[in-house]
This record gives sequence, C-alpha cells and structure tokens, in this order.
Amino acid sequence: MSKITHHIPEEMLRAYAAGTLPQPFAVVIAAHVSLCDACRAAVETEAALGGALLSSMAPAAVSSGAKDRLFAALDSAPPPPPQQRGSGIFPAPVMEALKGQPPRWKMLGGGIRQQILSADAEGSLRLLYIPRGRAVPEHTHGGLELTLVLQGSFSDCEGRFGAGDVEVASDDVDHQPMAGDEGPCICLAATDAPLRFRAMIPRLLQPLFRI
Ligand SMILES: [Zn+2]
Repeated sequence: MSKITHHIPEEMLRAYAAGTLPQPFAVVIAAHVSLCDACRAAVETEAALGGALLSSMAPAAVSSGAKDRLFAALDSAPPPPPQQRGSGIFPAPVMEALKGQPPRWKMLGGGIRQQILSADAEGSLRLLYIPRGRAVPEHTHGGLELTLVLQGSFSDCEGRFGAGDVEVASDDVDHQPMAGDEGPCICLAATDAPLRFRAMIPRLLQPLFRI
C-alpha cells in the first residue's frame, strides 16, 4: 500500500470511537482504520479516554450482588461472531458489508460500475469502480461524502487520493473525481444524503441507479 496522506479528521475519529456516527460513515472509517496505523492509534486513545470518562462517572460503589450478576451475564454471553477476514483489496469491514461475497457490479455507463452495499435513512454505502482516466459525473452533495480509495487513485480539486486515503467532501465541494492512469480506481463511498448531480443526463439516471 502506498503511503497514506489523507486521514480521518480528528473530530470524526472521536465520534467513531464514541459510536455516534451513521453506519455508512462508520464502515468507511473502520476500513480506513484497519489500513492506517496512525488513525488506529488515535481511535484506541479516544476509546481509552472515553472509557476512563465513563468509569469516573460510574457510581463509586457497586453492590457485590450486582457485580456477580454482571459477571454471570458475561460468562453466559454468546461468543462474538468470527471476525470477517479481509480479502484482496477489501479490508475486513468491507468484506463484512459484502457479506463475504465478491462485488456484484452494476454498470452505470462510461465503464463506471457500482454496487450499493446499503441505502436507508442514515445514508448510503457503495463500492465504485472507475476505469483508468475516467471521471465520475460532476456532483455536489446534500450532506457529507466520505470516500476511501481501495485500489488505484483519483484526483479532484482537493488533490490526489491513493490507496488507503480518505476524502471528506462537504456539500460545498463541487467535484469531479478522475481515476489515475495506473489502472482502475476502486473506492468505498458513504454519504449521509443523496448526491445532487449537475448535468441533466446523470440527474435523469439518478433515481434508477441511486448514485
Ligand atoms: Zn489514517
């Protein structure tokens, strides 16, 4: 993996560690964190700080009966499901979203493909495949979009993003990501609101493809 230069903003890592982010964003961040030592360390620090804060707020004395019941409940809890392993370019959190299956791409035209992994009131999560040198239609967002590069690279007005990099684009960013020359770019993108495409044709296609 090339060197990661675009990371998750600190306040977003904090929200991730606290478990308060919409699910599509949480998956993108989990995938980045699985690839990035710096962000993983930051999340662990946040989680430790959050835990320390919680225990400082907990009542000082817990009755021994309550403690026994807690430990009994922990003992009888079912084991956590086996952790999904990463496969190829897909980190474990992406494999989990794919339910362990390879992507089932849908053609969007211009060689661009996508698979929607989830779409609901919280937002959407999808995989995008952009052929070498091709651009995704220009669009703005109704909210935030997080894009993690899994293979290849893309560039837009914000710079170049290689494997492992994350772009955080707010609704005032009007961008047209273009895949690099080294090969197809595959990325994982999460939004918390539908994208608004500017050109007429993509706008007509949007209800069909939900891009
Ligand atoms: Zn990072």
